[in-house]
Amino acid sequence: MNINRLILNSAVAQGLDVIGDRWALRILNEAFNGKRRFEEFRSHTGASRATLTRRLTALVDNDILYKRPYSTGATRFEYKFTEKGLGLFGASLLARQWELDWKVEEPETSDKQLFHSPCNSILQPRAVCRHCHEALELEDVSWLSLDEELNNQMDEIKSIHQQHQADLSSENINNTPEVKLADLVGDRWTLLILIVAFFGTTRYDDFLKQLKIAPGILVERLKNLIEAGVLHRKSYQSNPPRYAYKLTAKGRSLYPFTMSLRQWAIDWLPDKVSEPNLIHSSCGEALAVEIHCESCKQKPWPRDVRLQF
Ligand SMILES: [Zn+2]
Ligand SMILES: [Zn+2]
Repeated sequence: MNINRLILNSAVAQGLDVIGDRWALRILNEAFNGKRRFEEFRSHTGASRATLTRRLTALVDNDILYKRPYSTGATRFEYKFTEKGLGLFGASLLARQWELDWKVEEPETSDKQLFHSPCNSILQPRAVCRHCHEALELEDVSWLSLDEELNNQMDEIKSIHQQHQADLSSENINNTPEVKLADLVGDRWTLLILIVAFFGTTRYDDFLKQLKIAPGILVERLKNLIEAGVLHRKSYQSNPPRYAYKLTAKGRSLYPFTMSLRQWAIDWLPDKVSEPNLIHSSCGEALAVEIHCESCKQKPWPRDVRLQF
């Protein structure tokens, strides 16, 4: 296990760079719930005007949303998904399902189910391999090749992280004790720790070495991940004391979302993302992920999915 395994991360990080951070993830989630207008986004996400304006502008600039006037004076706009933005629907469904499964949903929406109209069933989104349609499992993905450019990529990922730091620290989104998915993956270091954990890293020293992360930052993020129930800590040596950090079931269940975000970046940011380097060992094909409805095995589209009490 070494830093070369971080190759996957490039696509995930590029994807997150475009959809931004936890604010952007929340805005997208509201947009998939049918919100279109500035004030609707404001009341449902709790973002300040300045934050919301910046995120909406970035989402339009990145071709995720487009805006069009809805009043005759043309001074008010609504925001709708582009085709590229619609490509994030599957990841958004997985994010919602994860929060539902681990009971971190807003009380407002936790009593609502998503229905898939074509099969008239409760929608259970599942990440599957595009080639063999088997459900994606952490153990079934292996590496095809190594990339010498990786250290450069790590620097790139870190610079993306730094760009977002000012925004992230300016407003505290953690106003509830539950840690939402957007809070986890919207923090670059947390996401990096998760990704190396997906590929087998457990020891503190290995996280330090692979991520070239400052010890203070690593300690803080590991603590947050333990509190969120995503990692658990186990002593493996007493003198000196050494600990292993392993993914819990809750942590492992973040894997499909992460991989669907990676897939979106590969599909929609081909000029930024290099060739896929992961192999689905069940079928031997290059890993490509899609989301289907567990009941009818079809790909859900926003027009076919409705909220029901
Ligand atoms: Zn496969
Ligand atoms: Zn269905």
